[in-house]
Amino acid sequence: MGAAESSASGGARKTSALAGRLAKLGLYNDDDILLHLPLRYEDETQVTPIAQLPFGDSAQVLGTIESAEVMLRPRRQFVCRLRDDTGVITLRFINFYPSIQKQLAVGNTVRAFGEVRGGFWGDEMVHPRVVPVVEGQELPATLTPVYPTTAGLAQSALRKLVERAFQRSRLNDPLPDALRAALRLPGWERSLRFLHQPTPGTRLESLDDRSHPAWRRIKFDELLVQQLSLRRAHAERRAHSAPALPPRGQLTAGLINTLPFALTGAQTRAVNEIALELAQPHPMQRLLQGDVGSGKTIVAALAMLQAVENGYQTALMAPTEILAEQHYRKLVGWLAPLGIEVAWLAGSQKKREREAMLAKIAEGSALMIVGTHALIEETVALERLGLAVVDEQHRFGVKQRLALREKVDGQLPHMLMMSATPIPRTLAMSYMADLDVSVLDELPPGRTPVHTHLVADRRREEVIARVRDACHEGLQAYWVCPLIEESETLELQTAVATFEALSEELPELRVGLVHGRLKPDEKAAVMDAFIRNEVQLLVATTVIEVGVDVPNASLMVIEHAERFGLAQLHQLRGRVGRGAAASSCVLLYSAPLSQNGRARLKAIFETTDGFEIARRDLQLRGPGEFVGARQSGVPLLRYADIEADVDLLEQARQAADDMLRAYPEAVEDILGRWHGGRESLLKA
Ligand code: ADP
Ligand code: MG
Repeated sequence: MGAAESSASGGARKTSALAGRLAKLGLYNDDDILLHLPLRYEDETQVTPIAQLPFGDSAQVLGTIESAEVMLRPRRQFVCRLRDDTGVITLRFINFYPSIQKQLAVGNTVRAFGEVRGGFWGDEMVHPRVVPVVEGQELPATLTPVYPTTAGLAQSALRKLVERAFQRSRLNDPLPDALRAALRLPGWERSLRFLHQPTPGTRLESLDDRSHPAWRRIKFDELLVQQLSLRRAHAERRAHSAPALPPRGQLTAGLINTLPFALTGAQTRAVNEIALELAQPHPMQRLLQGDVGSGKTIVAALAMLQAVENGYQTALMAPTEILAEQHYRKLVGWLAPLGIEVAWLAGSQKKREREAMLAKIAEGSALMIVGTHALIEETVALERLGLAVVDEQHRFGVKQRLALREKVDGQLPHMLMMSATPIPRTLAMSYMADLDVSVLDELPPGRTPVHTHLVADRRREEVIARVRDACHEGLQAYWVCPLIEESETLELQTAVATFEALSEELPELRVGLVHGRLKPDEKAAVMDAFIRNEVQLLVATTVIEVGVDVPNASLMVIEHAERFGLAQLHQLRGRVGRGAAASSCVLLYSAPLSQNGRARLKAIFETTDGFEIARRDLQLRGPGEFVGARQSGVPLLRYADIEADVDLLEQARQAADDMLRAYPEAVEDILGRWHGGRESLLKA
């Protein structure tokens, strides 16, 4: 922005430093500046006589500097006295530069804005904001905006930039009049001007809580832009071609007939939705969402078979080796009887085995491939990839998901993403508006509800006795070690120590240990032993969080449960309650609990409903952390809050439909203002 205008080379250096600072704030052009809205406001429109200063509140005084000196005791500080007709107040600076000393030289007239407190020298303001008063100059007519900023960028500089942006921008309303009138929203320019320079007398609360109509207008547009860009991304993807993979039924019917269980209603619905969409010559982009244990794997397997029936390759990518391997075994168990080969790829694989697998893939004898990130390496020949399935999709970055998709030239493969983190309605309506969603809202029959117990860690002995009893009855248990976010090494040491302590305390049990630093074959060996009930008590770090499925395990103990996230606790607890035995989950916590820790434990104790847990998690953490929204490349909303502003969100969805249908030029205009050149972010 400024750089283009400055011709002198010194000026150019200065402006490029400015441009750098603005870039830090994501500000590249006038539209960005106009949308960089104040965090809060200060009221400099009024001057309060010193004798009437409100104690403990912020206020502005105007007067003449009567004394100014640098004190050295009790500490080095700059102290001056400001007098008006009614009294005197002390201004005190603990950090100060020569510039402020100059501004506050004896005899100068200034305005000072700050909080009034009682101090050693009577009423004082510490580090007030100071503005020199020029003879004849009036007070500001509007509230003073305080913008989010960064080091080296003064509020006054931002205010000037905003002023200039107003002068040289197109300020026409991006919303078609008819639409705006129907929604009863205030005009665009009026709302922007108001938020940058609110008229005096405006209630600060309606600005602070963003309930003012001007705020609502900005939030509406922000939500509308989100809807429009996600839908456009969706439409662009649909415009590509993909292999049509109609359901032929030979293989899928074979699998359904040999399964030891009948599909649930929800599974059947999802299978049908996916089957229909795979038959289309456009890439599917679908999220299969279902709580832990809802049976997503079989739905994926049937979709994968549909690709194989059509002579195409299909790949299933999982975030961890334990999980990938478990999928592999499950698929082999289901598919070997049908004579279908499954290939397996993981980073740690022995070279010989890997080469054998790569050969099978290359020659096409194995169309079905399961693996970790190893799948997306160059050496894997996926020229005929028809369907890519990504399990626990939020654990992968956008790049990794796209890498799987780009393997094919000309056509894009269909894509099925699975997530065990239920997505709250508002999130699905906003951040994920570009995905089609199938929901498994029903658990397979015969699950036993899991009882959750909150136990203070001083009662650890009782919990150990409980583990002993369960294992004596032939059941199995998990013991999850504390999460130590700051240090993986410490976490590992704790896991080893816990394993040793429990082995000693429970000498009659076969205890195993699994953690992230084990070599994959060692990890697999422990998991195998657990699956075969050779290990009765499995001490584990959170590596078992996702997907591990051992129905005979009916007791889970989680140490320092207060350190885990809500979604993580839900996932962990989902590892039990998969068989016929009554299951429990013991959450050991150590007091005192933080407020947030208490809220999480309360939520996990009160409900096992994944959707309810997700909703509370969204409240506690916000959308950025949720379902990998951050990694998904979708810009986070800056102003709107999808929970609090759900009414606006609903209106924006409707308005997006109307605009795409009736006002395509307006769509371009509004997207350009909010995203400028950065819309490519959304192409992911
Ligand atoms: P998730 O949705 O958590 O990935 P899985 O696909 O691992 O769940 O399924 C959990 C368990 O339920 C597996 O052992 C699976 O074989 C079993 N299962 C899946 N569908 C059914 C069903 N309809 N009836 C009974 N058991 C099922
Ligand atoms: Mg799963």
